[in-house]
Amino acid sequence: RPDGLRRVTSWIGLIRSWLRRLTGRGCLPDDIPGGFLGLIGNTPLIRIESLSRDLGCTVLAKCEFLNPGGSVKDRVAKSIIETAEREERLRQGGCVFEGTSGSTGISLALVCNAKKYQCCIFMPDDQAQEKTDTLRSLGARVAHCKNVSMADPSHYCRAAENAADDPALEGRGFFANQFENTANFLAHFSGTGEEILRQTNGKVDAFVSAAGTGGTIGGVGARLKAHNPDVKIILADPPGSALAGKASLGVLWTREDREGYRRRIIFDTIAEGIGLNRLTRNFELAVPFIDEAFRVTDEEAVAMSQYLLRQDGLFVGSSASCNCVGVVKAVMSGAIPRDSGAVLVTILCDSGMRHLSKFHNRAYLKSMDLLPPYLDCDDEHGTA
Ligand code: PMP
Repeated sequence: RPDGLRRVTSWIGLIRSWLRRLTGRGCLPDDIPGGFLGLIGNTPLIRIESLSRDLGCTVLAKCEFLNPGGSVKDRVAKSIIETAEREERLRQGGCVFEGTSGSTGISLALVCNAKKYQCCIFMPDDQAQEKTDTLRSLGARVAHCKNVSMADPSHYCRAAENAADDPALEGRGFFANQFENTANFLAHFSGTGEEILRQTNGKVDAFVSAAGTGGTIGGVGARLKAHNPDVKIILADPPGSALAGKASLGVLWTREDREGYRRRIIFDTIAEGIGLNRLTRNFELAVPFIDEAFRVTDEEAVAMSQYLLRQDGLFVGSSASCNCVGVVKAVMSGAIPRDSGAVLVTILCDSGMRHLSKFHNRAYLKSMDLLPPYLDCDDEHGTA
């Protein structure tokens, strides 16, 4: 008898485990991200409550600061490297070169680690020491170039030359070239843009973004327009950048614009990573989709960052703040009707934590005459 009982219970156990296997219960879900690379993209879309309330619209934002490397550039680094692998322009033991002083260097260094490539970043010699320190802690080689000559394209071209010529690499150098490489545009077309459509059920009336390479506004703009040609693509442009005038007026870009990087360009802004004075391939792809462009001042970007922090608890960087000012201007100008419930989407490119020595530093803002009076009080650290 007990033997029979034991046999029956073991059969029941066996059948249960088959059923569990058949129905998938007891198995690990297959959407567990695969390490660092698996965490890139699929960022949450949030409603910015304060702006939505103030404008009578739904203001949504992609939280790109939640990418594992802390910025929207993780998507671009992954896309550029994986495209190069597929096209066999990047092989085992290879080294990725880029000329950048911004977030792209950090994202490239991290993706290179995850994929066992070397990474070499060229940056101008007038950048904050913490940028070099961060890149070196991530394992990248950092080379500095003098950023003085009008004719010298400096760090950007040095990266290209070294990728092609470094004898130690025996042809395994690869120049990432985020400005001209359209894997940047594609990361946003099939990643960011596609995600926005999915997360909103395709109900988007406007997309607002600044441009540094043009990858975000081009890729997302193209994807959203393909879904609905009536969606408005709106550029937010910081002081000193030439995009707003040219893009909105449909002015043809001259050869001189294309060669702009050969001249030293001084941007008149503290917003990092955005603004352009030459026509890059990625921005060229964006131009046909841009419907409106608004200038955003540094004062407005600083005020917006404080507003988002105090109203919504969102601590974001300078380009994210500039994007949100662009949202407000789009509505206040009438391009998107106020109190219409229209859905505007923008990008929170990185966190304020990346900007503690400039955009979110009271002493720095004061030195630039940009400190709002309500922040002008002495404390130990001077960080906003
Ligand atoms: N925000 C930050 C922090 C960036 O580094 C950049 C790119 N340099 C941008 C925004 C602009 O994005 P895109 O290059 O796609 O135009």
